[in-house]
Amino acid sequence: MNTQDVLAAWRRVLTGSVPMLSIEITRDCPLHCPGCYAYGESHLGTGVNLRQLGDFHGDELVERTIALVRRHRPLHVSLVGGEPLLRHRELSRILPALSEMGVWTLVVTSAVIPIPAEWQNIPQVTVAVSVDGLPEHHDARRHPATYARLLQNIAGRKIKIHLTITRPMLQREGYLEEYFAFWSARPEVQAIWVSTYTPQVGEHTPEMLSLEQRQWVSGAAEGWRRRFPRVLMDARTSLALAQPPSSPKQCAFAQLSVNYSADLTTRVEPCIFGGKPDCSQCGCAVSIGLHGIQQIRVAGLIPVGAIVKASTRTGALLNRFRPALARPARWDDAPKAPADGPYAPAARG
Ligand code: SF4
Ligand code: SF4
Repeated sequence: MNTQDVLAAWRRVLTGSVPMLSIEITRDCPLHCPGCYAYGESHLGTGVNLRQLGDFHGDELVERTIALVRRHRPLHVSLVGGEPLLRHRELSRILPALSEMGVWTLVVTSAVIPIPAEWQNIPQVTVAVSVDGLPEHHDARRHPATYARLLQNIAGRKIKIHLTITRPMLQREGYLEEYFAFWSARPEVQAIWVSTYTPQVGEHTPEMLSLEQRQWVSGAAEGWRRRFPRVLMDARTSLALAQPPSSPKQCAFAQLSVNYSADLTTRVEPCIFGGKPDCSQCGCAVSIGLHGIQQIRVAGLIPVGAIVKASTRTGALLNRFRPALARPARWDDAPKAPADGPYAPAARG
């Protein structure tokens, strides 16, 4: 992101829009990964889980997705799932349309089927492939998207790798270095994004990191970055990982994004994780990255975080007078937009 992008995002916020939109483009996924938040019972907060939600196919999915993006006017759209590649035909029409609108689009996939080669030539489109550790863990967690299949399905493409660090990966010394060395050497890989597992409040699962493990990751990150330049974790991000936002209201990512589920109506709140995410253990690469940026002082005086807060307050005020624009539920305590439109947010418990 350059200065022009930051100014464009700021302008969006000041005029009552959110710069980032995420869409669960399908409810379907052939995988059953342990710890998958998208299929958690509390993910949507409506008593309905993602697999039970209605979704769209064909022309209807293409038209409704583009209409949703037009309505929100974001700078960046993340297309997640379920497994987005199950809708690759529709995405092959949606991605060029969003590119023509000047929107940057990220598709997050397990690469269980081949990534269409023509996507490489669409400007402003990035594909991120989630790889959950070395084959000893990934192949068990993400079967049938095994390393062997994944390597075939990304051959000749340009991709980013996304790693979510879970506790089993920290049991063996050198495990993560082995992972970074393997993916850094692949010709397809442009960058490696690193998250740590983000649990729900009250969760106790084998994926979760202890406080000491989070601090260890935070301390090790800068060394990884020096040794493996494709690992995108700098000193500021490492620090933010040890001190994540205390709540969605303190989270720049939650404040600056709106998330829709597969019926293109239900909103995922308070952030992409849905349910009741434990912010104190947040390891989301985007959230942590933005949280780190918030500590920077503009002209050495005002923290970026203070500017974001003031801007979202101004944007929320303007948003009240522009009901066609949707507002993240966590934007201040202003009255909500009318709930009778075609994209009205679903009631949440
Ligand atoms: S591939 Fe993604 S959406 Fe599918 S089960 Fe795994 S984590 Fe969940
Ligand atoms: S992304 Fe933000 S709101 Fe969501 S868990 Fe992380 S810190 Fe909390």
